[in-house]
Amino acid sequence: MALIVQKYGGTSVGSIEKIQNVAKKVIEEHKKGNRMVVVLSAMSGETNKLIELAHQMTADPDTRELDVLMATGEQVSIALFSMAVKSMGYDACSLLGFQVGIRTDQIYGKARIQDIRTERVFQELEKNRIVSIAGFQGLDEEGNITTLGRGGSDTTAVAMAAALKADVCEIYTDVTGVFTTDPNICPRARKMDYISYEEMLEMASLGAKVLEIRSVEFAKKFNVPIHVRSTFSNERGTMVVSETKDMEKITVSGIAFNKNEARITISKVPDKPGIAAAIFNPLVKAGIVVDMIVQNTSEEGLTDLTFTVAKADFYKSMKFLSDVAKGIGAEKVLGDENIAKVSIIGVGMRTHAGVAQKMFTTLAKENINIMMISTSEIKISCVIEEKYTELAVRVLHEAFGLENGTQI
Ligand code: ASP
Ligand code: MG
Repeated sequence: MALIVQKYGGTSVGSIEKIQNVAKKVIEEHKKGNRMVVVLSAMSGETNKLIELAHQMTADPDTRELDVLMATGEQVSIALFSMAVKSMGYDACSLLGFQVGIRTDQIYGKARIQDIRTERVFQELEKNRIVSIAGFQGLDEEGNITTLGRGGSDTTAVAMAAALKADVCEIYTDVTGVFTTDPNICPRARKMDYISYEEMLEMASLGAKVLEIRSVEFAKKFNVPIHVRSTFSNERGTMVVSETKDMEKITVSGIAFNKNEARITISKVPDKPGIAAAIFNPLVKAGIVVDMIVQNTSEEGLTDLTFTVAKADFYKSMKFLSDVAKGIGAEKVLGDENIAKVSIIGVGMRTHAGVAQKMFTTLAKENINIMMISTSEIKISCVIEEKYTELAVRVLHEAFGLENGTQI
C-alpha cells in the first residue's frame, strides 16, 4: 500500500467528462489499497479568464485581490472532482490551500511555500477518503491568500509529496513524458525513461514546458521522485530522479531551444574597471535579466560587450543602453532580434571529452554560424540565426544519437 500524490493539469480537468475520467483513474488506484492525494489545476483556460476579468476591472489590479481571484479557479476543480468521486460511490474530501495549512511568504503572484502541515490530510486519509487539494495557492503569515506563480500546481504537488513523504509524485499532463527535444519540430524526438533533476532544471529553464521549474527545484531538494505521464494513456512516462552512475554513460540527453531572446552589442567600450557595472546596473534596476555575456578586446584599450536579453525587454534595453553608451564613451549599440539559443544538455558531459567539438562541427556542416557560446558543467548553448533553429535541433539530435538512445 502506497501513498501516492497525483497532480492533474488544466487540460486533464478541462470539462465535466475529463474530471469524471480523472476520478475514475484515481479510484482505480484507491481500489488497489493506495492512499490517494490529488492536486488539481484550474480547468484549462480558467486562470487566463480570471486574469482577463481583473484587467477589465482595472488596468493595474491590486496584487492581493488578484491572488484571491486567481485562487478560485482551483477551488472549482477540486469541488467538481470530489463530487465526481462521491457520485461513483467512494468517499472524498476537497481542501483549499489554507485548509491544508500550506504556508507561504507574502509575495503575491509568486509566493514561495515555507511550510506545510499534514495533520488534516492524514486525518482525511484515515477515514478512507480520496483527498483533493487546490494547487497553486497558499496562505501567508497574516492570513492572506497567495498564489505560487503560473504553473504553480506542479510545485504544490511536489511539496505535498515531500511533506507527506509520499512514495511517488505523479504529474499527469497532456504529453506522455519528457522528450529528448520538442517533437513538434523534431519528429524523431524520443520519450526519455529517466532524467536527472539537474538536466530537467536545465531543460525547464531553457523553455521545456512539461514541469514548472520551481517544482523541480523542490523535488531535487527533498529528493522526491516525479513521474511525468499522460492522463490519456496508461503508458509509462518519464521518471525525474537524482542522478545515477548510469546516466553518465549518456553524453547528451536532451536538446532545448529558445527563440525568446535578443542579442545586444555595445561596441568599442573603454576597457577599464567599472564599465561592466555601469552598463548592467541600469538594466538590473529596471528588472531586465541578462543571460549570456561575452566580452572581448576589439582594439587596444577598447572592448566589445555582447549579451542577450528576453525579446520582451529588447526595446526597453536598447533605449536604456543608448544613453549609457553615450555616458561611457562607447561607439554604438547594435541589436539583433532574429536569434535563437540552441542547447545540448546532459550530466554525462562532465565525464566525456569532445562534446563541444562535436556540436560545433555538426553546426558547421550545415553552414550554421555560431554567434555566441556559453557552457556549464552539463550544458553547451550556442546562439545562432533564428531561421536555422529547427535545422540545428534536428542535426544535433541525429549527431548525438538521441532518437534511438544509443550514445556516441
Ligand atoms: N492554474 C494555474 C495556472 O494556470 C496553476 C497551474 O495550472 O498550475 O497557471
Ligand atoms: Mg502546467
